[in-house]
Amino acid sequence: MSDDNYQVAVIGAGPGGYVAAIRAAQLGLKTVCIEKWVEGDKIQLGGTCSNVGCIPSKALLDSSEHYYRLASGELGVHGIDASEITLNVEKMMARKNKIVRSNTMGIASLFKKHNIELVCGQVSFASANDLEITGQDGKMSSLRADHIIIATGSVPIGLPIASFDYPQIVENSGALSFDRVPERLGVIGAGVIGLELGSVWRRLGSEVVLFEALAEFLPTADQQIAKAVEKSLRKQGLDIQLNTRVTATEIENNQVKVRYENQQGTHEASFDKLIVAVGRRPLTEELNLGAAGVQHDERGYILVDDQCHTNVSNIYAIGDVVRGPMLAHKASEEGVMAAECIAGLKGHVNYALIPNVIYTWPEVAWVGKTEAALKDEGRNIKTAQFPFMASGRAKAMESTEGMVKLLADAQSDEILGAHIFGPNASELIAELVLAMEYRATAEDIALTMHAHPTLAEAIHEAALGLNDRMIHM
Ligand code: FAD
Ligand code: NAD
Repeated sequence: MSDDNYQVAVIGAGPGGYVAAIRAAQLGLKTVCIEKWVEGDKIQLGGTCSNVGCIPSKALLDSSEHYYRLASGELGVHGIDASEITLNVEKMMARKNKIVRSNTMGIASLFKKHNIELVCGQVSFASANDLEITGQDGKMSSLRADHIIIATGSVPIGLPIASFDYPQIVENSGALSFDRVPERLGVIGAGVIGLELGSVWRRLGSEVVLFEALAEFLPTADQQIAKAVEKSLRKQGLDIQLNTRVTATEIENNQVKVRYENQQGTHEASFDKLIVAVGRRPLTEELNLGAAGVQHDERGYILVDDQCHTNVSNIYAIGDVVRGPMLAHKASEEGVMAAECIAGLKGHVNYALIPNVIYTWPEVAWVGKTEAALKDEGRNIKTAQFPFMASGRAKAMESTEGMVKLLADAQSDEILGAHIFGPNASELIAELVLAMEYRATAEDIALTMHAHPTLAEAIHEAALGLNDRMIHM
């Protein structure tokens, strides 16, 4: 039935799929990648991450941060008076769109460089080796591959009480494309998307209310850090309503009326826009997995082992369609691993050391275990914290909020968890991921010279602190 024969076919060109395709091609395998995302008449590479996720959200986080610094008068302390501030949302969005285009075009040129064939269309399985592809024009084609990597990613979870049929109620892509700053913005879910996109629009002037079902804020983060983050975000004006359930929404006079319940009773509030950010679900239902015999769970996650191998010998699945956190870097590392396993190498991902970052200001980043998790395991641990208040560089930046918190084994001194709330935490965490990958002790970090003045010195100090010898505290 096939028109073409490949050694590897990758379904989906997000950060999982496109990286898997590049690694497979590097290893000399004849590779095709099939992607259904089309903008205008062009196939769009990069998946959720490049198009409606990581990249556009960070572009807007940066733009909104610049605006806030100027508009809030925060720069006055530097002697910078910027009283005549204007905001051009159209231009801000155009910049974001340009970055997205440049990123996706970059991936297209990498495909060319590595001779990866790109096919446009929606894939479904005909058998474990045969794929059927429906093109934009509805035309069907097929291809055959020895090995297949499924990387079809995820889509937002919708709520029956908040239908996306109305322009006032949006998921992440809508929230990244408002044409003006909503006066009042509601967000269902105070998770990563809620906090990042809530921050963007708050900084640009919206009144933002976040409705979170759980009583605990950021439950997967270290709770000492989470409490500091919550306090900081509340101070910035994010109205975070924990332990709160939205029970109904209604469109009235172009506004979204939200009914919600908490321990104080039932309330109503009206918003110009409502973002639904209550998590994402794997996108696997279009794949006809049954035809290949690929097993999945009741929520649609494809079942895989530690090397992303499915129950079918020639099929792998990576990224948001499989267990584990929905993160671009995790998807990419799994893509590399799957391609290497196909090529007969020993692919490996260290699932214990996946860094997490929340790009609020200050940023939040962590790797390894939280204090509570280690205590639950009965580990004998020691902890140390170094506040950015005591960092010369943080003072020079006028950004002294937050801390570095390290957790180590009390006997062996091995670092078991690293938690940062502070300026540039997203960059700082890399040192600790590397240290923990090498199973470094606190003493190893303490013996490593850190440039002065840098924010990274806070990591050095916290490592010194684990053995009671901080210099600057
Ligand atoms: P995706 O990126 O979703 O790519 C899947 C691709 O498969 C898509 O292009 C899709 O069109 C295609 N596809 C699906 N079905 C088919 C089919 N049947 N046939 C052909 N093609 C198909 N993660 C981070 O690590 N850092 C961040 O800062 C970050 N920010 C985010 C911000 C937002 C607003 C959102 C929504 C997500 C963010 N994420 C972030 C998460 C990150 O985007 C995902 O974890 C990542 O994109 C998953 O990669 P993937 O390759 O598994 O899937
Ligand atoms: P999330 O899981 O981070 O947060 C969803 C939140 O919604 C949770 O706190 C949950 O308790 C809450 N919730 C669920 N149902 C609710 C309801 N009915 N009412 C009120 N609250 C409810 O999911 P997300 O923010 O949608 O993000 C999706 C995925 O994208 C995440 O897995 C995340 O890893 C990824 N992402 C990562 C980054 C990053 O790495 N910086 C940024 C954005 C998104």
